[in-house]
Amino acid sequence: MKLEIRKIIVLGGGSAGFLAAITLKRRAPSLDVAVIHSSKIPIIGVGEGSTFTLPQYLHGYLGINPSHFHQTVKPTYKLGIRFLWGPRESFNYTFNAQLDARFPGMSKPNGFYCGDNFSGTGLNAALMDRNRVFEKQTDGAPLIHTDVAYHLENRSFAKYLEGAARAIGVRIIDDEMTGLEQDENGIKRLHLESGGTAEADLFVDCSGFRSELLGRAMGEPFVDFSSSLFCDRAFAGGWARGADEPLKPYTTAETMDAGWAWQIEHDHLINRGYVFSSAFLSDDEAAAEFIRKNPKVKDPRLITFTSGVYERSWVKNVVAIGNASGFVEPLEATSLAVICESSALLIETLVDSQFLIHPTARKYYNQTARHTWDSIRRFLAMHYKFNTRLDTPFWKACREDTDLTGAEEIVEYYQTSGPSVMWSHHAMGPTDQFNWEGYLVMLVGQKVPHQVDFTPSIEEAKAFEQFRRKILDRAENAFTLREALDIIRSDHWQWHPDFYRKASRWGS
Ligand SMILES: Cc1cc2nc3c(=O)[nH]c(=O)nc-3n(C[C@H](O)[C@H](O)[C@H](O)COP(=O)(O)OP(=O)(O)OC[C@H]3O[C@@H](n4cnc5c(N)ncnc54)[C@H](O)[C@@H]3O)c2cc1C
Repeated sequence: MKLEIRKIIVLGGGSAGFLAAITLKRRAPSLDVAVIHSSKIPIIGVGEGSTFTLPQYLHGYLGINPSHFHQTVKPTYKLGIRFLWGPRESFNYTFNAQLDARFPGMSKPNGFYCGDNFSGTGLNAALMDRNRVFEKQTDGAPLIHTDVAYHLENRSFAKYLEGAARAIGVRIIDDEMTGLEQDENGIKRLHLESGGTAEADLFVDCSGFRSELLGRAMGEPFVDFSSSLFCDRAFAGGWARGADEPLKPYTTAETMDAGWAWQIEHDHLINRGYVFSSAFLSDDEAAAEFIRKNPKVKDPRLITFTSGVYERSWVKNVVAIGNASGFVEPLEATSLAVICESSALLIETLVDSQFLIHPTARKYYNQTARHTWDSIRRFLAMHYKFNTRLDTPFWKACREDTDLTGAEEIVEYYQTSGPSVMWSHHAMGPTDQFNWEGYLVMLVGQKVPHQVDFTPSIEEAKAFEQFRRKILDRAENAFTLREALDIIRSDHWQWHPDFYRKASRWGS
């Protein structure tokens, strides 16, 4: 049966709820969009790393003014993730090519030459190694590009989005949903704590892990990813940045006894979190290890989660976005990007169909959502399967038992053919945000053995070294993150009007 959409209620006022509401209203101003959220049910308060998708989405697709955003939310830039992982001291995962590239005149792609010398194969990675963020242009301005993500504080981000939603006409109601009525088409109306009711044609469930509408009301089955991803808890905490703690342009992901720890860089705060598996470590043991490594953290907060996804995200007249639809642990900080992509898919589908939804559109939406989550699952599984840094019971179990579903062929191709870039498009599929580059970085970064017996000639090894040196030297002269932020946040800084528009890939 077709579904006609004129009025939409978004349940939830976290980053998912407001991003979805802004997307809907901005792209289709004639829609009646309301956000219902309860100030008695706090937002999750974590979700502070992102991928390159987020800035492009905010400023390119949603048209949020970057100057205002930088001055108000004060995001910092993230060039990638520094992994303290596997046998190398560290390696850098970035949002642009390192190993997927081939230096001019070389007989093979970069990955084949990265035995011990990984750094300097791409500019962003080199910038990370030098603790710099953007190159200097001849006029003295930072050369900002779009292969870069944000670190942002979750609460101030959600607050900002709330203001942006209100400014474009989204109605915002502080109330709690306490019950609902359904019929054969889905949800008819919500019952609110204030005594009122709320009706809509479409309900967007952004109620976080509670998944009030999709999980609880519609009873959609949950697909658990724990055979691939063993972690199910996190301790989060942070401290005020000291004068001897420079602002880094990247997230750090550090191997821990039963999981890993993030370090996220805010202006004046350093935010740490230990993601661990309760099957291998008690809460007390995890807290003790976390504090031992981060003595400045006081009273870390425990968050519990299950990695997995609801079988379908869109059932009848309920579409879930954000943690209400699925969550894969935060090792690659992908949730905000999935929220953006899902919100854009939803509204573009509505606009194209003149707000009449056919079951086939719902089916395609659901297939895309599942592929997206499955591609994150398989990519993260690989991080666990091959990390040889520690020999604790957790890491031994990861190496033995991690279910690589969906990534087996990619890994097999690498193991037999080395860091080749042939077949990358074929293997990836359309919804994999990590690309072949991401897989190569994790496989070569962790020194996963392969069967290709290749030793570069002396000339090639020398040439490779020279290319690396050149890139590292370029990075040496770039701006530090603090310097770049001071310029970007100043009243003199002007964004070119087309800067983000060109990068936006969602149309409109
Ligand atoms: C440990 C951890 C680390 C993470 N790190 C990252 C990261 O680095 N990067 C990233 O992209 N993501 C990360 N995430 C995911 C992150 O949580 C989400 O990206 C994100 O913040 C979206 O949250 P949300 O809006 O779906 O839910 P929430 O922030 O939980 O918001 C839920 C909203 O629903 C409302 N609500 C719920 N029930 C009702 C009701 N009955 N009536 C009215 N209102 C209701 C609440 O009031 C609230 O407003 C992390 C998650 C975890 C657990």
